[in-house]
Amino acid sequence: MGLPHNPNIFANNPLDRVSHKRLDADWIAGQLKDKNSFILPMYKENIFVLPPAKPGSPPEVGFMRTDMFAEAYKNGATVMFLGLDKKNRAYFAVDLTDQGPDPSQSGPLKGFGEFGDLRGLAMTIDASDASIAAQAKAVLKWHSTHKFCSACGAPSVIAEGGYRRDCPKCHVQHFPRTDPVVIMLAVHGDKALLGRQKIFPKSMYSALAGFVEPGESIEEAVARELFEEASCRVSQVTYRFTQPWPYPMS
Ligand SMILES: [Zn+2]
Repeated sequence: MGLPHNPNIFANNPLDRVSHKRLDADWIAGQLKDKNSFILPMYKENIFVLPPAKPGSPPEVGFMRTDMFAEAYKNGATVMFLGLDKKNRAYFAVDLTDQGPDPSQSGPLKGFGEFGDLRGLAMTIDASDASIAAQAKAVLKWHSTHKFCSACGAPSVIAEGGYRRDCPKCHVQHFPRTDPVVIMLAVHGDKALLGRQKIFPKSMYSALAGFVEPGESIEEAVARELFEEASCRVSQVTYRFTQPWPYPMS
């Protein structure tokens, strides 16, 4: 029995993250060498996509063979483990940003496809693949901006298949950051409260939203944000569902 289907994009990730196995660095290394494993290249926060299998169909997320990037691994590219699919094949992601110019133009990926923005592709690519790409994008972005220990300033090192960074100097462990946000539709009778930003296209409106603050429940965050943004007091908050969102601070 799996979880019920979540209606939101980037949810329903089909991979089993096998978090109990990520602690075993040798197991991770073995999976990376396995010829049946896949790896998703990323470059400047963009995901690698392959051309449509046939004209008119959407592009496909570019899960490649892991041995294509041996040089990048040697050169210190950040590699993370994503999980196992139903056939027990391992999936990884690698950040090629610091490995030189666009690798789809001159590196091992030349001729296979190109890098594209996940937000723009999300509505067209396979939904399961989009959720895997979101996982990769969120964690690799965190690594790219958290290379140093926030306690002592020393360079930290990747651990637990990419879900932790350890400081070799003061031994503090650092974990990927997530920023919880509430998105709420306030209703009054048969009317709903919507808002819009100046940058929105004409006639576009959205539900209100805001970050949850430390020490605050999601219900309290909903009430606070609605009062801040629209001077509305709320009498009841009902939870609907959650959604992964791989765009930090937005
Ligand atoms: Zn430290």
